[in-house]
Amino acid sequence: MTKKFRVFATCDIGEAIDLLLKRGYEVEVYPHPQAPPKALVVQKVASGIDGLITTLRDPIDAEVFEAGKRTLKAVAQYAVGFDNINRADANRYKIPFTHTADVLTEATAEFAFLMMGALARKMWSAEHLTRDLKWGFWHPYLPFLGDEVTGKTVAVIGTGRIGLAFIKKCAGFDMNILCYDPAYENQAYVRAIQEINDLRHARGMAVEKAWIRYVGFEEALRNADFVSIHVPLLRKGESATPTYHLFNEQTLKLMKRSAHLVNTSRGPVVDEAALAKALRENWIAGAALDVYEKEPLPEDSPLRDPAIEDRCRLMPHYASAARITRLSTDPEKGMAGRCVQGLIDLLEGNYGGDVTKMPYVVNKEAFGK
Ligand code: NAD
Repeated sequence: MTKKFRVFATCDIGEAIDLLLKRGYEVEVYPHPQAPPKALVVQKVASGIDGLITTLRDPIDAEVFEAGKRTLKAVAQYAVGFDNINRADANRYKIPFTHTADVLTEATAEFAFLMMGALARKMWSAEHLTRDLKWGFWHPYLPFLGDEVTGKTVAVIGTGRIGLAFIKKCAGFDMNILCYDPAYENQAYVRAIQEINDLRHARGMAVEKAWIRYVGFEEALRNADFVSIHVPLLRKGESATPTYHLFNEQTLKLMKRSAHLVNTSRGPVVDEAALAKALRENWIAGAALDVYEKEPLPEDSPLRDPAIEDRCRLMPHYASAARITRLSTDPEKGMAGRCVQGLIDLLEGNYGGDVTKMPYVVNKEAFGK
């Protein structure tokens, strides 16, 4: 019988909680859909829990780790991004934390792709036309036209897990692809996509031969019809190439006037005031956002300006929100399963208790020899 571990979950992650209960864990789930106040999380940690299940809306820092310094053995983050967890603080207190990489990759990439298409083909305006009884006639170009995605050039900013999956989907639409990633260029993946492009062309499935290559940031922005962001949020001091406000007045001005921006990464990667200005003043043609500097999006956000509503799609941080991706208890398929497995690995000392060998642990650097 497993030792009785105590766990506090800041949100309900569905049936995966039962997996812990079946192993004899004592689990308390915060019962409300909103995030618990930080003071409550600190209080729960101070009460001696062994494991804490968190998600992107919970700030986890020195205050939390201090409260758990004698008892807290693991933080299991229900998300791949972990910018809400202060990694340096976790390392200082030697508390490992896990995340749910991979299982949400395809769902998030797919959502970015679908947002891109919905934006380019003006689906929101088009449906309004129908619903608001303003669809008066069929006409070659009135009241407006959208832009095709097929055959266009897309810049993929950040070619990690989700960026690569997004590339794969764009390749299926015969898009030309400009990749940018200052930390790692996956040339093997790019070669494989080019081979597929070549084959599609050779077999007559694509009229033009599509291409893909790594370029610098400026070149990517200047030449793309679409720009899709797939970077982690990295603030100044956290990386040699921080991503905070990577998209600002200066960089938005590099984009074509006809280009569209898609952001499913983290809100603060885009300076929203600058983006609203870019849309108002037509520096770029449109934007589709899933994430915001402040979530939920405040009522007075400049992004809500009715003057830009036809070219600014606003989604509620929803890119990974697909049934299996969010809730499957299988750690190979669902965030819930992977979150719980990460916690079990740490609490039950799987992999011989070697944190550096546990697949879902992020801050392995704090536990090496
Ligand atoms: P990843 O770590 O596999 O990939 C991120 C890539 O960005 C890496 O290759 C890294 O080198 C690159 N990068 C870092 N700094 C950069 C910079 N300045 N410019 C360009 N590239 C840079 O992560 P992932 O699994 O692909 O996830 C990416 C991010 O997507 C997550 O960190 C998370 O914030 C976000 N995300 C959002 C949702 C959502 O629901 N909207 C869902 C999943 C993930």
